[in-house]
Amino acid sequence: MYAPQGVKTNHNEFPIPHTMRAWVLGDPGQLSMVEKETPVPKKAEVLVRIDAVAICATDLEIIYHGPPASIQGGLPFNKGFTPGHEYMGTVVALGFGVDEYKLGQRVAVEIHAGCGQCKRCREGMYTSCHNYGMNYGEMDKNHRANGFTTDGGFCEYQVNHINTLVAINDEMSDEEGTLVVTAGTAMYALTELGGLVAGESVVVTGPGPIGLMAVAVAKALGAQPVILTGTRDNRLEIGKQLGADHVINVRKTPDVVAEARRLNGGKGVDYVVECSAATSAVNDAVRMVNRGGRVCLAAFAHEEVPVDVAHIVRNNIYMYGIRGEGKSATHRAEAFMQQKRFDATLIHTHTFPLEDLPTAIRYAKDRVEDAIKVVVKAKFDAVSKVAAE
Ligand SMILES: [Zn+2]
Ligand SMILES: [Zn+2]
Repeated sequence: MYAPQGVKTNHNEFPIPHTMRAWVLGDPGQLSMVEKETPVPKKAEVLVRIDAVAICATDLEIIYHGPPASIQGGLPFNKGFTPGHEYMGTVVALGFGVDEYKLGQRVAVEIHAGCGQCKRCREGMYTSCHNYGMNYGEMDKNHRANGFTTDGGFCEYQVNHINTLVAINDEMSDEEGTLVVTAGTAMYALTELGGLVAGESVVVTGPGPIGLMAVAVAKALGAQPVILTGTRDNRLEIGKQLGADHVINVRKTPDVVAEARRLNGGKGVDYVVECSAATSAVNDAVRMVNRGGRVCLAAFAHEEVPVDVAHIVRNNIYMYGIRGEGKSATHRAEAFMQQKRFDATLIHTHTFPLEDLPTAIRYAKDRVEDAIKVVVKAKFDAVSKVAAE
């Protein structure tokens, strides 16, 4: 029986095994399923039974290349590390001092728990924690970033600090719950751009999950027009359903910057949220915004990109980089989802059982059947139910 000292459980309703199934990363690209000890929540932490976890492009980067994961200060390979960061679940055990959440409560889980003791954490910028990755040995500052610097969600249970939890209601499906943090990242981008985007024009570049959620959040915040650029018509079509007033297929448009400016009366737009990671994206973005406009970079670029600094300075353009889902933006995104201001489930395409993670990864990586968000679930009965619907 799982009964760590000082931890509150309810074994009748939520039986917790001593060990759990967990995928671990060996050499690059090699995942295997092992039995791991079920983790124990400390003060201000809870144990979350993971009901669903989505696969993100960053998971693929980590599994095949390593960074941006950093385990004990180095690459994440052959350290028994469990990746996965976009998960939701049910609170099944409470660590010491926790009364903010109840046993049985459904939650989405933010990725970053800052150390709580550095300058940025004190400012609420916990995704920019100065002690990122410091959670081992003499350097232990208790920093956590699920699936980046600490074990993540491709398993059955995980511990999480209460500050990373976002309560979700029972109307929201598990799959939709995994998208709360994705929408929260988009909300953080718009927060950094100023937040008050009602009546302002926004271009979102790149219709990946964050880009599509940026369209939805910008529209829910009242932006007008919202313009989405991308290379795949099926994704641009989903962007329209999520609130894009115009879409531009960059493969079919000789001058995407001119077209974006034309769609807003020729002046350029007020904001660009860059979610494509394309090499030309920064220069395109700074030319799409009008003078004094703002650009938020939300995608991890794969190489150094050229930037026209003179254009940025001459036109007083503001540039922001964001990391993850900062400043409690996830709570604001969840409020939109609870009010059904947009349907995040449009970007969820596939669900597999946890044991089929390699298949799920293949679907996400190779975009099999136009996969966008692929989810895995440990509760097999729930998976079969979804399949039967
Ligand atoms: Zn992600
Ligand atoms: Zn910190």
